[in-house]
Amino acid sequence: MSSQLSGSRTGGTDPLAGIDLLIVGSGFFGLTIAERAAAELGKRVVVIDRRAHIGGNAYSEADPETGIEVHRYGAHLFHTSNERVWEYVNRFTSFTGYQHKVYSNFEGEVYPLPINLGTINQFFRAAYGPDEARALIAEQAGEFDAKSARNLEEKGISLIGRPLYEAFIRDYTAKQWQTPTTELPAEVISRLPVRYTYDNRYFNDAHEGLPVDGYTAWLERMADHPNIEVRLETDFFDETQPLHKSAVAGRIPVVYTGPVDRYFDYAEGELGWRTLDFEAEVLPTGDFQGTSVMNYAGADVPYTRIHEFRHFHPERDYPADKTVIMREYSRVASREDEPYYPVNTPEDRERLLAYRALADAEDRVLFGGRLGTYQYLDMHMAIGSALSMFENRLAAIL
Ligand code: UDP
Repeated sequence: MSSQLSGSRTGGTDPLAGIDLLIVGSGFFGLTIAERAAAELGKRVVVIDRRAHIGGNAYSEADPETGIEVHRYGAHLFHTSNERVWEYVNRFTSFTGYQHKVYSNFEGEVYPLPINLGTINQFFRAAYGPDEARALIAEQAGEFDAKSARNLEEKGISLIGRPLYEAFIRDYTAKQWQTPTTELPAEVISRLPVRYTYDNRYFNDAHEGLPVDGYTAWLERMADHPNIEVRLETDFFDETQPLHKSAVAGRIPVVYTGPVDRYFDYAEGELGWRTLDFEAEVLPTGDFQGTSVMNYAGADVPYTRIHEFRHFHPERDYPADKTVIMREYSRVASREDEPYYPVNTPEDRERLLAYRALADAEDRVLFGGRLGTYQYLDMHMAIGSALSMFENRLAAIL
């Protein structure tokens, strides 16, 4: 996969000899910086990761029993409207024509998401045209104005009205975030479009698809450069790890993509994260739910959604009599859990400002990625922001 820095190049015992840049974390952000610094600038880069595999939460692997590609940390769907990012990612993989669609089970009935004319008509047992549906939702949304909505609840009601909000958003969001919807930022719900057509594609972006030969092959190709060495099962904070002291002493430039609060040893308090638990199962049927992701809207079901991985790759030759499903559960993370999503309450945002000030004061360390910036970045956003960091800020620390 990646080359090792040769003994002669490391020049004896100095762990820094021959290394120009240390990257903490091998997710999309870290690998994009590594690839650019190695390929474009000829820098010698070491990427370390605590886990035994690269790719962060985008990592996937073939289920040993069925060969079905399983996204170990939940479904990852690639989509972007950023032409620069699209051109860049296509250097490492080609994409299938997969278009993501999601359905939601509410009180034992299945509806299409995101909220569209099909959802509205099924829910109200009606046959409204777009104008009638708009008028109905405007009436039901009247209590809040979308522009001045201060939190997820107000924004949700302003976009789709109270009845649809209570059916599809309120309890699902409570399960997923375990935080009052009045404390969550409005932007979380703005991720989902609302459409007055029957179009139920989940994403609006110009480009969408899944990597033809899987996420891990894509990630490995990004790291596959003679100037990049990946060291797995290497914890940046492990003081016995040879690069640790040098990095802390500022002797080597660092791009850090782990949790920003952890970097500063929680000096400004802990930032809130949400973690996920997964329960995977191989079932003796060729098709369990007929689609890749089924959300469960109600508080009566403990999980938020079920992924059925074979549907992400209908073009592949998977077994006809077996399928892999994965139930997803969500909860607030403790320090020992893997952080997945920044919760971003008003208190978190205050703390983040304090951490940003600390981060800005670090001379030779840049912070990036979902964990390093405490932002709900999708894969294409993490890659786009790494490309910008590479162009605008990396030179300052090298
Ligand atoms: N959401 C919801 N009901 C759904 C799907 C999404 O209430 O059936 C809300 C929920 O608050 C969620 C947000 O919309 O956190 C964004 O959903 P998305 O599917 O983009 O979340 P992700 O796939 O990143 O977890």
